[in-house]
Amino acid sequence: MIVSIASGKGGTGKTTVATSLALYLEEAHEGRIYFLDCDVEEPNAHIFLKPQIVKRTSFGIPIPEVDFTKCNYCGKCGEVCAYNAIIVVKENVLVFPELCHGCGGCSLLCPNNAIIEKEREIGFVEEGVYRSIEFYHGKLNIGEPMATPLIRSVKEFIKNDNENDVVIIDVPPGTSCPVIEAVKGSDFTILVTEPTPFGLNDLKLAIETLRKLKIPFGVVINRAGIGDKGVTEFCNEEKIPLIAEIPYDRKIAVLYSYGVPMLKEGNKYRNIFKRIWEHLIKKSTGAQVTRAQENDSMQ
Ligand code: SF4
Ligand code: SF4
Repeated sequence: MIVSIASGKGGTGKTTVATSLALYLEEAHEGRIYFLDCDVEEPNAHIFLKPQIVKRTSFGIPIPEVDFTKCNYCGKCGEVCAYNAIIVVKENVLVFPELCHGCGGCSLLCPNNAIIEKEREIGFVEEGVYRSIEFYHGKLNIGEPMATPLIRSVKEFIKNDNENDVVIIDVPPGTSCPVIEAVKGSDFTILVTEPTPFGLNDLKLAIETLRKLKIPFGVVINRAGIGDKGVTEFCNEEKIPLIAEIPYDRKIAVLYSYGVPMLKEGNKYRNIFKRIWEHLIKKSTGAQVTRAQENDSMQ
Protein backbone atom coordinates (compact mmCIF):
# COMPACT_ATOMS: atom_id res chain seq x y z
CA MET A 1 0.00 0.00 0.00
CA ILE A 2 1.31 3.43 -0.92
CA VAL A 3 0.13 6.16 1.45
CA SER A 4 1.07 9.77 0.82
CA ILE A 5 0.85 12.43 3.50
CA ALA A 6 0.16 15.85 2.03
CA SER A 7 -1.10 19.28 3.01
CA GLY A 8 -2.14 22.23 0.92
CA LYS A 9 -0.40 24.49 3.39
CA GLY A 10 3.08 24.28 4.91
CA GLY A 11 3.50 23.95 8.66
CA THR A 12 0.37 21.90 9.34
CA GLY A 13 2.26 18.98 10.88
CA LYS A 14 2.44 16.77 7.77
CA THR A 15 5.88 15.38 8.61
CA THR A 16 4.87 14.83 12.23
CA VAL A 17 1.96 12.68 11.08
CA ALA A 18 4.04 10.86 8.42
CA THR A 19 6.90 9.96 10.76
CA SER A 20 4.63 8.97 13.65
CA LEU A 21 2.56 6.77 11.34
CA ALA A 22 5.77 5.08 10.16
CA LEU A 23 6.88 4.51 13.76
CA TYR A 24 3.47 3.17 14.75
CA LEU A 25 3.47 0.73 11.82
CA GLU A 26 7.04 -0.31 12.49
CA GLU A 27 5.82 -1.70 15.80
CA ALA A 28 2.32 -2.80 14.84
CA HIS A 29 2.48 -4.02 11.27
CA GLU A 30 4.05 -7.19 9.95
CA GLY A 31 5.04 -5.95 6.49
CA ARG A 32 8.05 -3.83 5.63
CA ILE A 33 7.80 -0.07 6.05
CA TYR A 34 9.38 2.26 3.51
CA PHE A 35 9.59 5.96 4.24
CA LEU A 36 10.21 8.37 1.35
CA ASP A 37 10.70 12.05 2.16
CA CYS A 38 9.82 13.73 -1.15
CA ASP A 39 9.78 17.23 0.31
CA VAL A 40 13.10 17.69 -1.47
CA GLU A 41 13.35 21.45 -1.00
CA GLU A 42 13.24 21.06 2.75
CA PRO A 43 13.36 17.42 3.84
CA ASN A 44 13.09 17.12 7.62
CA ALA A 45 11.70 13.63 8.32
CA HIS A 46 15.26 12.45 9.09
CA ILE A 47 15.27 14.79 12.11
CA PHE A 48 12.44 12.74 13.65
CA LEU A 49 13.29 9.27 12.41
CA LYS A 50 17.06 9.69 12.81
CA PRO A 51 17.95 7.00 10.24
CA GLN A 52 21.47 5.76 9.83
CA ILE A 53 22.40 6.97 6.36
CA VAL A 54 24.18 4.23 4.46
CA LYS A 55 24.45 5.66 0.95
CA ARG A 56 24.45 9.05 -0.72
CA THR A 57 24.07 9.41 -4.50
CA SER A 58 24.52 12.61 -6.43
CA PHE A 59 21.57 13.51 -8.66
CA GLY A 60 21.83 15.59 -11.80
CA ILE A 61 20.01 16.46 -15.00
CA PRO A 62 21.53 16.46 -18.52
CA ILE A 63 22.41 19.96 -19.70
CA PRO A 64 23.31 20.74 -23.33
CA GLU A 65 26.82 21.72 -24.33
CA VAL A 66 27.42 22.93 -27.87
CA ASP A 67 30.28 21.68 -30.05
CA PHE A 68 30.95 24.82 -32.08
CA THR A 69 33.01 22.90 -34.63
CA LYS A 70 29.75 21.26 -35.78
CA CYS A 71 27.19 24.02 -35.12
CA ASN A 72 25.99 26.14 -38.08
CA TYR A 73 23.75 28.37 -35.91
CA CYS A 74 20.57 27.13 -37.56
CA GLY A 75 18.53 28.10 -34.48
CA LYS A 76 16.53 24.83 -34.19
CA CYS A 77 17.62 24.18 -30.60
CA GLY A 78 16.33 27.59 -29.49
CA GLU A 79 13.02 27.02 -31.27
CA VAL A 80 12.34 23.69 -29.57
CA CYS A 81 13.22 24.78 -26.03
CA ALA A 82 10.04 25.70 -24.16
CA TYR A 83 12.03 27.16 -21.28
CA ASN A 84 14.31 29.58 -23.17
CA ALA A 85 17.25 27.68 -21.73
CA ILE A 86 19.12 27.71 -25.04
CA ILE A 87 19.19 30.72 -27.35
CA VAL A 88 20.96 31.26 -30.68
CA VAL A 89 22.23 34.81 -31.20
CA LYS A 90 24.16 35.67 -34.34
CA GLU A 91 27.16 33.31 -34.31
CA ASN A 92 26.78 32.10 -30.77
CA VAL A 93 24.60 29.67 -28.82
CA LEU A 94 23.91 30.59 -25.20
CA VAL A 95 22.90 27.95 -22.66
CA PHE A 96 21.27 28.91 -19.33
CA PRO A 97 21.72 25.82 -17.13
CA GLU A 98 19.42 27.07 -14.33
CA LEU A 99 16.50 27.23 -16.78
CA CYS A 100 17.18 23.86 -18.41
CA HIS A 101 14.78 21.01 -17.50
CA GLY A 102 17.07 18.38 -19.03
CA CYS A 103 14.38 17.20 -21.46
CA GLY A 104 16.92 16.40 -24.18
CA GLY A 105 14.78 18.02 -26.91
CA CYS A 106 17.52 20.29 -28.24
CA SER A 107 20.12 17.55 -28.65
CA LEU A 108 17.53 15.27 -30.26
CA LEU A 109 16.56 17.87 -32.86
CA CYS A 110 19.97 19.35 -33.62
CA PRO A 111 20.52 18.48 -37.31
CA ASN A 112 24.32 18.53 -36.96
CA ASN A 113 24.70 16.48 -33.78
CA ALA A 114 26.39 19.53 -32.32
CA ILE A 115 24.90 19.13 -28.84
CA ILE A 116 26.28 16.81 -26.24
CA GLU A 117 24.74 16.42 -22.79
CA LYS A 118 26.67 16.95 -19.58
CA GLU A 119 25.22 16.16 -16.20
CA ARG A 120 24.73 19.06 -13.79
CA GLU A 121 24.22 18.10 -10.14
CA ILE A 122 21.04 19.59 -8.68
CA GLY A 123 20.88 17.58 -5.46
CA PHE A 124 21.36 14.14 -3.96
CA VAL A 125 19.47 11.12 -2.71
CA GLU A 126 20.28 9.42 0.59
CA GLU A 127 19.32 5.92 1.68
CA GLY A 128 19.20 4.92 5.30
CA VAL A 129 17.59 2.72 7.88
CA TYR A 130 15.90 3.24 11.23
CA ARG A 131 15.14 -0.02 13.03
CA SER A 132 13.30 -1.91 10.28
CA ILE A 133 12.14 1.21 8.40
CA GLU A 134 13.85 1.71 5.04
CA PHE A 135 14.38 5.44 4.65
CA TYR A 136 14.99 7.52 1.51
CA HIS A 137 15.07 11.24 0.94
CA GLY A 138 16.15 13.68 -1.73
CA LYS A 139 17.66 17.07 -1.12
CA LEU A 140 17.87 19.81 -3.71
CA ASN A 141 20.96 21.99 -3.72
CA ILE A 142 20.26 25.52 -2.48
CA GLY A 143 18.73 27.71 -5.18
CA GLU A 144 17.86 24.81 -7.50
CA PRO A 145 14.26 25.03 -8.75
CA MET A 146 13.93 21.58 -10.33
CA ALA A 147 12.25 19.51 -7.60
CA THR A 148 10.20 17.21 -9.81
CA PRO A 149 12.98 15.07 -11.37
CA LEU A 150 14.57 14.57 -7.96
CA ILE A 151 11.23 13.47 -6.48
CA ARG A 152 10.89 11.01 -9.36
CA SER A 153 14.31 9.66 -8.51
CA VAL A 154 13.40 9.17 -4.82
CA LYS A 155 10.19 7.37 -5.86
CA GLU A 156 12.19 4.88 -7.91
CA PHE A 157 12.97 3.19 -4.59
CA ILE A 158 9.32 2.14 -4.20
CA LYS A 159 9.24 -1.62 -4.47
CA ASN A 160 5.68 -2.38 -3.33
CA ASP A 161 6.05 -5.95 -4.56
CA ASN A 162 4.55 -7.38 -1.38
CA GLU A 163 0.94 -6.47 -0.57
CA ASN A 164 1.80 -6.35 3.13
CA ASP A 165 4.43 -3.64 2.63
CA VAL A 166 3.55 -0.03 3.36
CA VAL A 167 5.19 2.90 1.60
CA ILE A 168 4.78 6.26 3.33
CA ILE A 169 5.49 9.33 1.22
CA ASP A 170 6.05 12.71 2.83
CA VAL A 171 4.78 15.11 0.14
CA PRO A 172 5.96 18.71 -0.34
CA PRO A 173 3.45 21.39 0.74
CA GLY A 174 1.27 23.14 -1.84
CA THR A 175 -0.50 21.90 -4.96
CA SER A 176 2.06 22.43 -7.74
CA CYS A 177 4.03 19.99 -9.95
CA PRO A 178 6.24 18.56 -7.14
CA VAL A 179 3.12 17.65 -5.16
CA ILE A 180 1.54 15.94 -8.15
CA GLU A 181 4.74 13.98 -8.81
CA ALA A 182 4.93 12.94 -5.14
CA VAL A 183 1.29 11.77 -4.74
CA LYS A 184 1.04 10.12 -8.18
CA GLY A 185 0.45 6.37 -7.81
CA SER A 186 -0.69 6.57 -4.18
CA ASP A 187 -3.43 4.23 -3.01
CA PHE A 188 -4.55 6.82 -0.48
CA THR A 189 -3.57 10.34 0.55
CA ILE A 190 -3.89 11.70 4.06
CA LEU A 191 -4.39 15.46 4.01
CA VAL A 192 -3.14 17.11 7.17
CA THR A 193 -4.67 20.47 7.92
CA GLU A 194 -5.28 22.84 10.79
CA PRO A 195 -8.70 24.14 11.84
CA THR A 196 -8.27 27.72 10.62
CA PRO A 197 -9.58 29.66 7.61
CA PHE A 198 -6.08 29.45 6.05
CA GLY A 199 -6.00 25.71 6.63
CA LEU A 200 -9.45 25.30 5.07
CA ASN A 201 -8.57 27.41 2.04
CA ASP A 202 -5.46 25.38 1.23
CA LEU A 203 -7.21 22.12 2.07
CA LYS A 204 -9.81 22.88 -0.61
CA LEU A 205 -7.03 23.41 -3.19
CA ALA A 206 -5.36 20.14 -2.22
CA ILE A 207 -8.71 18.30 -2.44
CA GLU A 208 -9.31 19.72 -5.91
CA THR A 209 -5.91 18.37 -7.03
CA LEU A 210 -6.52 14.91 -5.57
CA ARG A 211 -9.98 14.70 -7.10
CA LYS A 212 -8.49 15.43 -10.52
CA LEU A 213 -5.86 12.75 -9.95
CA LYS A 214 -8.61 10.36 -8.73
CA ILE A 215 -6.69 9.48 -5.57
CA PRO A 216 -8.82 8.56 -2.53
CA PHE A 217 -8.16 10.78 0.46
CA GLY A 218 -9.15 11.62 4.01
CA VAL A 219 -8.39 14.45 6.40
CA VAL A 220 -6.47 14.60 9.66
CA ILE A 221 -6.93 17.80 11.66
CA ASN A 222 -3.83 18.80 13.56
CA ARG A 223 -3.92 21.25 16.47
CA ALA A 224 -7.62 20.52 16.96
CA GLY A 225 -9.12 22.83 19.55
CA ILE A 226 -7.66 26.05 18.22
CA GLY A 227 -9.30 27.99 15.37
CA ASP A 228 -12.86 27.27 14.26
CA LYS A 229 -15.17 24.51 13.03
CA GLY A 230 -14.82 25.41 9.34
CA VAL A 231 -12.75 22.36 8.34
CA THR A 232 -15.07 19.94 10.19
CA GLU A 233 -18.20 21.47 8.67
CA PHE A 234 -16.66 21.44 5.19
CA CYS A 235 -15.68 17.75 5.52
CA ASN A 236 -19.18 16.88 6.71
CA GLU A 237 -20.84 18.79 3.87
CA GLU A 238 -18.55 17.22 1.26
CA LYS A 239 -18.74 13.76 2.89
CA ILE A 240 -14.96 13.70 3.19
CA PRO A 241 -13.72 11.22 5.80
CA LEU A 242 -12.35 12.98 8.86
CA ILE A 243 -9.95 10.25 9.90
CA ALA A 244 -8.52 11.67 13.11
CA GLU A 245 -7.92 14.79 15.15
CA ILE A 246 -4.65 15.53 16.92
CA PRO A 247 -5.33 17.90 19.81
CA TYR A 248 -3.50 21.15 20.26
CA ASP A 249 -1.02 20.19 22.94
CA ARG A 250 2.01 22.11 24.13
CA LYS A 251 3.80 18.81 24.80
CA ILE A 252 3.71 17.94 21.10
CA ALA A 253 5.22 21.32 20.22
CA VAL A 254 7.98 20.84 22.79
CA LEU A 255 8.75 17.34 21.48
CA TYR A 256 8.75 18.71 17.93
CA SER A 257 11.29 21.38 18.86
CA TYR A 258 13.60 18.60 20.09
CA GLY A 259 13.00 16.48 16.97
CA VAL A 260 11.09 13.85 18.96
CA PRO A 261 7.99 12.21 17.39
CA MET A 262 4.74 12.57 19.34
CA LEU A 263 4.46 8.79 19.69
CA LYS A 264 6.96 9.06 22.54
CA GLU A 265 4.05 10.51 24.56
CA GLY A 266 2.58 7.04 24.93
CA ASN A 267 -0.82 5.54 24.27
CA LYS A 268 -2.70 8.84 24.04
CA TYR A 269 -1.20 9.54 20.63
CA ARG A 270 -0.54 5.95 19.66
CA ASN A 271 -4.33 5.45 19.53
CA ILE A 272 -4.64 8.26 16.98
CA PHE A 273 -2.29 6.45 14.61
CA LYS A 274 -4.03 3.17 15.30
CA ARG A 275 -7.26 4.85 14.13
CA ILE A 276 -5.57 6.24 11.02
CA TRP A 277 -4.17 2.82 10.15
CA GLU A 278 -7.55 1.14 10.70
CA HIS A 279 -9.07 3.62 8.28
CA LEU A 280 -6.38 2.85 5.70
CA ILE A 281 -6.94 -0.89 6.06
CA LYS A 282 -10.67 -0.43 5.51
CA LYS A 283 -9.96 1.55 2.36
CA SER A 284 -7.43 -0.86 0.96
CA THR A 285 -8.59 -3.89 -0.95
CA GLY A 286 -8.27 -7.18 0.85
CA ALA A 287 -7.99 -7.53 4.57
CA GLN A 288 -4.49 -7.28 5.92
CA VAL A 289 -3.94 -9.08 9.17
CA THR A 290 -1.56 -7.16 11.36
CA ARG A 291 -0.20 -7.59 14.80
CA ALA A 292 -2.06 -4.38 15.67
CA GLN A 293 -5.42 -5.90 14.82
CA GLU A 294 -4.57 -9.09 16.64
CA ASN A 295 -3.54 -7.13 19.70
CA ASP A 296 -6.65 -4.96 19.50
CA SER A 297 -8.93 -7.97 19.37
CA MET A 298 -7.26 -9.29 22.50
CA GLN A 299 -7.76 -6.03 24.44
S1 SF4 B 1 20.38 23.12 -33.43
FE1 SF4 B 1 22.50 22.43 -33.40
S2 SF4 B 1 23.38 23.31 -35.20
FE2 SF4 B 1 21.50 24.41 -34.87
S3 SF4 B 1 22.09 26.17 -33.62
FE3 SF4 B 1 21.52 24.60 -32.20
S4 SF4 B 1 23.43 23.56 -31.71
FE4 SF4 B 1 23.80 24.74 -33.57
S1 SF4 C 1 17.46 20.02 -22.64
FE1 SF4 C 1 15.34 20.73 -22.97
S2 SF4 C 1 15.08 22.34 -21.45
FE2 SF4 C 1 17.29 22.00 -21.63
S3 SF4 C 1 17.94 23.47 -23.16
FE3 SF4 C 1 17.51 21.58 -24.25
S4 SF4 C 1 15.39 21.79 -24.94
FE4 SF4 C 1 15.73 23.35 -23.36
